[in-house]
Formats: sequence, C-alpha cells, structure tokens
Amino acid sequence: MDNPHSETIDLRSDTVTAPDRRMRNAMAHAVVGDNVLDADPTMAELERTVASLLGLPAALWMPSGTMANLVAMMLHLRRGDAFLAPRDVHILVDELGTAASFAGGMPMPLAHDAGPGRPSPASVRAICPPRRADYNELDVTLLCLENTHNAAGGAVMPPAEQAELTDVARECGLRVHLDGARLWNAAVALGVPPAALTGGVDSVQVCLSKGLGAPVGSVLAGSEDFIRRARRARQMLGGGVRQGGILAAAGLVALDRIEQLAEDHEKARRLASGLAELGWQVNQPETNIVLAEVPDATSAIARLSRYGVLASEIAGRLRFVTHRDVSLPAVDDALARIKTWLHADESMVLCRKSELYQVKG
Ligand SMILES: *Cc1c(COP(=O)(O)O)cnc(C)c1O
Repeated sequence: MDNPHSETIDLRSDTVTAPDRRMRNAMAHAVVGDNVLDADPTMAELERTVASLLGLPAALWMPSGTMANLVAMMLHLRRGDAFLAPRDVHILVDELGTAASFAGGMPMPLAHDAGPGRPSPASVRAICPPRRADYNELDVTLLCLENTHNAAGGAVMPPAEQAELTDVARECGLRVHLDGARLWNAAVALGVPPAALTGGVDSVQVCLSKGLGAPVGSVLAGSEDFIRRARRARQMLGGGVRQGGILAAAGLVALDRIEQLAEDHEKARRLASGLAELGWQVNQPETNIVLAEVPDATSAIARLSRYGVLASEIAGRLRFVTHRDVSLPAVDDALARIKTWLHADESMVLCRKSELYQVKG
C-alpha cells in the first residue's frame, strides 16, 4: 500500500528538528572568527552561556554529543581502567564502543535497580570498594550517568538521587561524567535549573541538536583545566572548526527554547495515553520519549511507516520521540493513523491478543 497520508509524522527522534527562520537568520548574521587559530566571538559567547547555565567553570563547543562523550572518556580514563555506567546508556550501546576502542576503558554496566535508567548507590558501592585494585583487577576510575536516560524512555534522575550516586563515587575515588544530551528535558520535567543537575560531576555534555532544534552541536563543560585539555583532545579528533560562530549562533537561539520542552512532554503524555487506550503497553513518559512493547519492533516500524508515522527502535522496543516540529494536533493525527493501522493489519491484531498487550474489552 502506498502511503495514503499526505504528510509524514516523524517521531523517530528529536534530532529531526530543522532550524527555523529565526535560527537561520541568527546563523546568517553571526559574528565569526577562526576558532582554531585564535577565537570565534560567537562560539565564546555560547560556551560562556552554557557554562553558566550548568554552573560549571568552563565549557567547550563540540560537533556532536558522541565526540563530547569520547573526549570526556579520553581525559578521564587511562588504558585498562574500568568505568561504570547504567545498562543501555548511549556511551555503551550507541557510540560504536569508542569508550573502549579509543579511550581504552572496560565498561561495567550497572543494573537499573533504583528505577528506570537509575542504578542504586549500593550497586555502585558494591562494584567499587574504596581500596586499590589487586594485581589482577582493573582499576575502576569513572562513573558515567545519563540524564535523561534515553533507552529507559527519557527517564529522569532527580538531583537528590544523583547526589547520592556522586557521593558514593567520590568515596570510591571515582570521577563522574554526565551524559546530559537531554539534561534540558530533565530540568524542565523537574522544574529545576539545569545547574541543579550537575552537582558532584566532573564533566557534563549537553546537546543543542535535539529538542532545542539546532542543526549541529553539543557542549562539554567542566573545570578550566579539564576544558583546556578537552580542547587539545578535540583537535586530535579533528573536531576544531574555523568560523564556528555560524553554528554557535544556532546554539544560542536553541538555548532560548529550554522552557518550550514542556510542550514536548505534554505531547508525549498525550501519545502514551492514546496508545494505552488502544491496548498497548507503554511507559509513563516523564519527558519526550514514549516506548511501546511490540513483539517485533523492526517489522512494526516498517508497517507503521506505510501509514506515514515514523518511529525507531531502542532496546527491542518501539520508540516515539516528540519534538518541536510535531504539533499536538499532529500527535492526535499519529494516534488516528496508528488506530487505522491496527484495524487493518492482521499481524498487529494478532499481536494485540498476545500476552504482550493488555487487551481491553
Ligand atoms: C544523541 C545522544 C548522544 C550523542 O549525540 P550526537 O550529537 O548524536 O552524537 C549522546 N548521548 C545521548 C543520551 C543521546 O541521546
């Protein structure tokens, strides 16, 4: 069947957001310099702004969140160190193993024993006793956290709980890196400033290119010394850009939109409750990610796309991500299309009767 729906509703990711007119204007008129030779004033302004939003001394623009995480791992780990991270975080499953292959770290995944995406302080303490490793044991030197936790459905870790984890990490002599690709979403969901979520961390990376709508860019923040070394590591990786102000200008516009993420959260709640009404098992979204249990996510994505609704797969589930380029009425439209699909698709009717679904009526 050809797609009978004129407009595709793209819920694969909040990275599909396109820069709007205001952002493109800001990019076109950005004041620039050579950010590798000496400095680019708009880059510098973006970095100061993000450092201050995160309550950390210094920050550095990065071409991607993946590179920001990699640079942090390269600086925190020596070859053969081990690092702890909650199961299914981006660093473990979505970065092609660079934490191991480039930064030389052995990953030790932590169970989500305190809730979705959230390891307990006890599980950190258990793996990391405050002593030197024996001759045949790895040195565990780093704890990585992810807030919000993408694969756990945009799950939020509240500041008090994060503080307990970073406290235990300190006691064990671990440094802490926070992957805050969607830290903005966590802050908005909790109603706290982003700086409330960076207590006790040595470094944090935040994305400008997801819900905030910039076309490119992440920012890595930490101490002055850490950021000085991060600049050298970024250069090693070929991540220095010249007239980066054009990209930084988009980032500055993006930062104006943090509060608007609340609308994406509302859309996600609407989508989740609509899917639940159709008999699906979904998470209760805290932010902008809805996960649905399906027997075969790959096939479900292909079938659903024929109805003009695009989703992605994560940890074996169907993932819908709401964002600024999909309106609330478009979310309702997506629900209507999903309903049509379920009625038409024999395989999904059967799926709904399987134990994976709570069938109503
Ligand atoms: C998207 C994402 C990244 C990486 O960002 P890119 O800019 O796509 O490289 C890192 N961590 C998390 C949790 C993400 O969702």
